[in-house]
Amino acid sequence: MRWLKTAFSDTLHLFYPHVCTGCGSDLLQEDHLLCLRCLTNLPHTNFARHINNPIEKIFWGRIPVAAAHSEFYFAKESLIQHLIHQLKYKGNQEIAVYLGELMGRSLLESSRFNKIDYLVPLPLYPDKERKRGYNQAAVICQGMSAIMNVPVLSDKVIRQRFTETQTKKHRSERWENVAGSFILKDKQKLQGTNVLLVDDVITTGATLEACGHSIIEAVDVKLSVAILATATK
Ligand SMILES: [Zn+2]
Repeated sequence: MRWLKTAFSDTLHLFYPHVCTGCGSDLLQEDHLLCLRCLTNLPHTNFARHINNPIEKIFWGRIPVAAAHSEFYFAKESLIQHLIHQLKYKGNQEIAVYLGELMGRSLLESSRFNKIDYLVPLPLYPDKERKRGYNQAAVICQGMSAIMNVPVLSDKVIRQRFTETQTKKHRSERWENVAGSFILKDKQKLQGTNVLLVDDVITTGATLEACGHSIIEAVDVKLSVAILATATK
């Protein structure tokens, strides 16, 4: 029967080309989404195990963060930029789950992230999520959840747009607008827990900080942050 299986798989290959999401080359049967070359070329940071790593420094003086991590370095025209573009703008949720799994493994190996109770994906504005069809941070969380065995909470923190009068506010109050746009719906649920806030890319950290502020409204909550990729070296 083995030949039949192989023949079936070859036929399937003809209709659904099994190619690497990173470089487009043919994949071997045992490869999943990325070829071995792309997989080994992924720029892991190893930040998870390091206290005071560059991601944690971003939040210093802004919001108390127990531990923070970014799985990859983000460089322009790089493999990781291509993959994040795929998961963000090309509807490729499979690669989001896959990269989430890789991040979940790194976090599992670090003792600093082994007491997490909930994964919270940074919410998108509802109209943006409707347009895209999914929240990429939530899909990354799916992959992490499968590896870490930690549940995802995606409906407890919501994001909303401000009214026109509110957006006409003075420029110095713009950050306040970002801050106010996240609302924690269920303070009881998060009380006394370790929450890991998850997003795809970190730039200034302002959005994560704003979202984090809504999470720490819960009593005795410990906030940690995990990002797929960072431009910070
Ligand atoms: Zn490849």
